[in-house]
Amino acid sequence: MNKENTSSRLPVMSGKRAHTNSSDGEQQQPAQKMRRVDAEPAQKFRPAASVVPPRRPAAVKAPVKALRPTGAATVAVAPARGDQKKPVAAVAKAAGLGASRRPGWDLKGKVSDMEAKVQNYQSKIKSVNLENDHLKDSITKAQKHKTEIEDENKGLKKRIGECEEELEKLATVKDDLAQTSTERDGLKKDLSNLSEEHKVLEGLRDHLESELRNIQTQLAIQTSTLRQCQDSLKESQELVRNLEETVARQREELHIGEMERRKLHNTIQELKGNIRVFCRVRPLLTGNQSDVLHIQLPAHDNKALTLAKTEESHTGRTADTQKSYNFSFDRVFGPRSSQREVFEEISLLVQSALDGYNVCCFAYGQTGSGKTFTMEGGDVEDMWGVIPRAVQQIFKSAKALQEQGWEYSFTASFVEIYNETLRDLLYTGKPNKRPEHEIRKLSNNEITVTNLTYQQVNNEDEVHNLIMLANQNRSTARTGMNDHSSRSHSVFQLDIEGQNSDRDTKCKSVLCLVDLAGSERVQKSQSQGERFKEMTSINSSLTNLGIVIAALANKESFIPYRNSKLTYLLQNCLGGNSKTLMFVNIAPEEESFSESLNSLRFASKVNDCVIGTASANRK
Ligand code: ADP
Ligand code: MG
Repeated sequence: MNKENTSSRLPVMSGKRAHTNSSDGEQQQPAQKMRRVDAEPAQKFRPAASVVPPRRPAAVKAPVKALRPTGAATVAVAPARGDQKKPVAAVAKAAGLGASRRPGWDLKGKVSDMEAKVQNYQSKIKSVNLENDHLKDSITKAQKHKTEIEDENKGLKKRIGECEEELEKLATVKDDLAQTSTERDGLKKDLSNLSEEHKVLEGLRDHLESELRNIQTQLAIQTSTLRQCQDSLKESQELVRNLEETVARQREELHIGEMERRKLHNTIQELKGNIRVFCRVRPLLTGNQSDVLHIQLPAHDNKALTLAKTEESHTGRTADTQKSYNFSFDRVFGPRSSQREVFEEISLLVQSALDGYNVCCFAYGQTGSGKTFTMEGGDVEDMWGVIPRAVQQIFKSAKALQEQGWEYSFTASFVEIYNETLRDLLYTGKPNKRPEHEIRKLSNNEITVTNLTYQQVNNEDEVHNLIMLANQNRSTARTGMNDHSSRSHSVFQLDIEGQNSDRDTKCKSVLCLVDLAGSERVQKSQSQGERFKEMTSINSSLTNLGIVIAALANKESFIPYRNSKLTYLLQNCLGGNSKTLMFVNIAPEEESFSESLNSLRFASKVNDCVIGTASANRK
């Protein structure tokens, strides 16, 4: 848009309007329309001016001033341009004045006035058209300008959008900034804390450094001590090695010594005789021991015993005859001998059992002579008999032999032989379900009893419990069967198995401790029925025991073990490969004289036997 054009043309248009203002309303309209059209862009422009960058200020300001209605009025009164317009105004004025002045008849004058008027109007139309063209032209320009401004406006709006986006971004940045500064404050605080800690740590470090120095000094000392220790350790190790060699050598020597001891021990036992008979006289249960006159025990000889009896003369003419019977045994124990003393003598045989020899110990004698007391004894340890003491010694010795590499295992059984029938004394089942038993000889010559309880035992207490159980089983029978125990044999058997895995040596043996049935003879006339049967079986089994021992002594080719259950069960403990000890128990009462004599005679027969040299069951 051109500033000069706008300012130069518009006043012309306005000036003309001022002339026609009161005269013609119709012609006024285009001017008013034009003004409205022009005014709008001017007004729209105003707010834009504040936003539009100052690159085109002149172009915008100019039309505003020019189009203001007041401006137009001012222009209208401004001096008209050129002379061409003056006649028009003059003609109009003249026409108006002429019409009022011309007389009615002056038609010619009026026509000329009208013509002048028409001319005036035509020229006016011409100028109005001209002006209209101008206005159209300026409208076109204004529209073009509007389009430009609208484009610009769009650009600006876009820019505003961008700015707003930027503003939003900036708001986020502001938030971030606030957060960052909070973080910074926190970090500052941390920093101050850390620097305090740092100070503390520095102090600590200094302390530790000084300690380290101390430790290093100590370490140096310790290192030198260690070196000394290592040296002495080496010496000690050398010493230990030497000692170990010595120990190994001594172990070997010990083993050789142990085997030597076993051999020598056995030699001694053999020299003492593989079958030995001990006699034990029970004390009087009532009264004074000095009342026992018929049994004489020489003070200087503990192997002799004399049974003496004064026989009255039948005729009365001759003096009473003193009959005495002398016996000698491996050992005779008087009424005052204690259980401990008795056991001392047989403990050597128990040792033989651990060394691998079968050992059998019997108690023979009439009922009430002290067989059970000798074999089992009382409950107090002082009163213990052979069985508990043997068990005690066995477990003790087995433990001692452990150090030489010997491991032992023990199996106990307890059987009663009544009327040639076996009864398990360790049976714990129902009485009416008692199984029957048979003695069997295995292919390896071992003897076993079918259905019998063979109980593994690991210590004395277990064995004591078994003995108690056996006693209960026996006593039950006693009440029911009129002291059945005195008419039955009871056999306690301990199977011993030893193994020295270091030396690949094994040994196996049996320790048999037998409480025999009462040996008293009952007069045949007095015994009947069950009692007769009992008597017969006891007599035959005890007689057979004597026969077997005699046959063994005479080295007979046939030994009648099978003749009784007792000898059949004990066959491995009797003879060749074993050591046998027989206690003959004597009752001190005078009325037992003849029974005592019988017992001593039986025992003497056994004592006369020399059983073949035993050999240990080594594998
Ligand atoms: P047995 O078994 O031979 O029938 P016991 O051993 O039952 O005989 O002995 C009979 C009684 O004599 C028991 O009361 C027992 O305590 C007692 N007795 C046996 N021998 C001795 C002894 N050496 N010292 C003390 N009392 C004994
Ligand atoms: Mg008894």
